[in-house]
Amino acid sequence: MRHVFGLVASRRLGRSLGIDVVPHKTCTYDCVYCQLGRTTCQTIERRAWFTLDEILADVRNGLDTSPDYVTIGGSGEPTLYADIGALITELKSLTTIPVAVLTNGSLLWRADVRAALQQADVVIPSLDAADEVAFLVVNRPHEALSVEQVWQGLVEFRRSYRGAYWLEVFLIDGPSSAQPRLSRLVECVRRIGADRVQLNTVTRPPAESWVAPVPPARLAEIAQTFAPPAEVIAARLTHPVSLPDQVTRDTVLGLLQRRPCTLADIAAGLAAHHHVVIKILDELIADGQVHAEVVGEHACFMLHRRTETEGETHVVS
Ligand code: SF4
Repeated sequence: MRHVFGLVASRRLGRSLGIDVVPHKTCTYDCVYCQLGRTTCQTIERRAWFTLDEILADVRNGLDTSPDYVTIGGSGEPTLYADIGALITELKSLTTIPVAVLTNGSLLWRADVRAALQQADVVIPSLDAADEVAFLVVNRPHEALSVEQVWQGLVEFRRSYRGAYWLEVFLIDGPSSAQPRLSRLVECVRRIGADRVQLNTVTRPPAESWVAPVPPARLAEIAQTFAPPAEVIAARLTHPVSLPDQVTRDTVLGLLQRRPCTLADIAAGLAAHHHVVIKILDELIADGQVHAEVVGEHACFMLHRRTETEGETHVVS
């Protein structure tokens, strides 16, 4: 199923059925920390990249897995899908499972994008920077976007949207987590007035090798400076793992095709015991299909596909 992946063990959304609505990797940003690698199609043009029928056919099959959430996200920025509003409407008529949207929030200054997301149960936009320099360094946005415009969009959306609004702030060590830059970000986040603010940092291999996570103690300290305090969601996986299921090499590969995962991510996403997953990973590593990379305290597993970019080897998952 091309447009559906998972179940993915989501730190916020339990067992989540992912829906991909743009081609890999189509985004308005090219974040230095992106777990999907560098952006290959950077655009702000919204398009019907796929037909609604094609996506819905995959979703109907995926709903059999009884996810906690149906989550529109995946291989890039989902608000670049011109029919995302119609997709949400269809999903709401198809199932009572709540619909979540993971977005970088960069197009919320557009009235049509704000209108399209109104029916979602949860929208999780992000804001990683509140000044132009950090924005350029961390998010590497499309040239038509400014940080002020993105922030205004987040504020506007808060005014109209009645569902759950959870704002993610992704910090990397140095560029966005140092003062006085951080205080400005905290103030801009406060003025948005999200229902929850969730702090994240690097736990999977980033697009750029120089990117480092904010240490856990510092992240906890920073969380307290938000008003009200932010939740730290980095590497928090609390979802219970159920009995072994039909876990195969294909289901593991299907998950890793979308993003690198830790052992805990795979086990929780596929509702499998760790030892079952380890056995499959051993085979996939021996066959050269998967390799592991250590990020902080975690080993991340990813597909062994590489492209040569500017003389470096760069993982694309
Ligand atoms: S992290 Fe999200 S917003 Fe940033 S480049 Fe990757 S897909 Fe786009």
